[in-house]
Amino acid sequence: MDNEAKSVVCVICPLSCKITVEIKNGEPVLQGKVCPRGELYVKSEVLNPLRILTTTIKSEDGRRVAVRTDGLIPKDQMLEVLKVAKKIPVPHLVERGQVLEQNLCGLGVALIVTGI
Ligand code: SF4
Repeated sequence: MDNEAKSVVCVICPLSCKITVEIKNGEPVLQGKVCPRGELYVKSEVLNPLRILTTTIKSEDGRRVAVRTDGLIPKDQMLEVLKVAKKIPVPHLVERGQVLEQNLCGLGVALIVTGI
């Protein structure tokens, strides 16, 4: 499916190149100055955007515990994963780096504690 051109700002390095991308015959076609790392990023961002989930969840004693996934998950599944993450029980004694869920939503990423 083709679509109109859109602009993507590459976040891989501080140069923040602005790249125009258009889908032609199902493939992203990039315009503008772009290096190989940026090309990979922009293609992924257009075809299958991925993000690290960072949030806080409540522990059993009511404290807010900062957590994040240890890998990227599809951006379009973020809300569903967030709902699941919010229901994961957090024990009273928890440490930074502790894994709360090994395979979150079957996506092959762990949910780990980053702050208490
Ligand atoms: S396209 Fe390359 S040079 Fe430009 S911001 Fe991305 S990584 Fe940096």
